[in-house]
Amino acid sequence: MIERCGEAIVLRVWPFQEADLLVSLFTREQGRVKGVARHAMRSRRRFGGALEPMTYVRATYAERPKQELVRLDAFEILSSPLSRPIDYARTAALQFVAEVVEEALPEQAPEDAVFRLVLAVLDQIQVGKVWMPVTYFSLWMSKLMGWMPELGHCVVCGLDLRGGTVWYSATSDGVTCEDDRRPGSVAVSAASVGEAVRIFRGTVGELAKEDWPKGRAADLRRFAVETLERHLERRLVSARALGRA
Ligand SMILES: [Zn+2]
Repeated sequence: MIERCGEAIVLRVWPFQEADLLVSLFTREQGRVKGVARHAMRSRRRFGGALEPMTYVRATYAERPKQELVRLDAFEILSSPLSRPIDYARTAALQFVAEVVEEALPEQAPEDAVFRLVLAVLDQIQVGKVWMPVTYFSLWMSKLMGWMPELGHCVVCGLDLRGGTVWYSATSDGVTCEDDRRPGSVAVSAASVGEAVRIFRGTVGELAKEDWPKGRAADLRRFAVETLERHLERRLVSARALGRA
């Protein structure tokens, strides 16, 4: 048995046998792991309020030989999403980050850059301020996974699209100029492409100082979410919930 202790983010929790819970955890050291929290429904001492999705914890757990699920022993809360006000949009945004990480990362593969991204956006997803961190996370997650197309040139004719509108389709790679757009293509405005450039250059903390209502760069956010969905080969339930916010 190997005992481990390290930083982790709680992604999802399911009821398991009796009073046990099955927990999907994104650990800094080992990437995504799944474990059983024995008697977690009863043992408030070991897990307390730490099983809320997107809680940042120091997790103590044990890997058992020939067992796929680790044994979760205790969580110490480093930062809880419940320590600040919560509403529908913030809940949906937190669920969105959890769902994307859960779906995008394989188990047992460390992803330190993704871990740092998640921590940074978590801190900025606050009541009345969810749209920028969600857009930032979606674009950066695509980039870190290697799914982000180059936005500067038409993938068909090579035309320089910098400073202009780009077109993308839900079924094919890359972005195009208007002439080469595929059936059903959707546009991302020049202004929104400019926001993407700023997002890839700036930190989420700096950008959070700006006013980002839902309508700002909404076409860019849709593009980023659809890029994630295309590579995950599924619709993100939380993205739909977020859209209703
Ligand atoms: Zn073209």
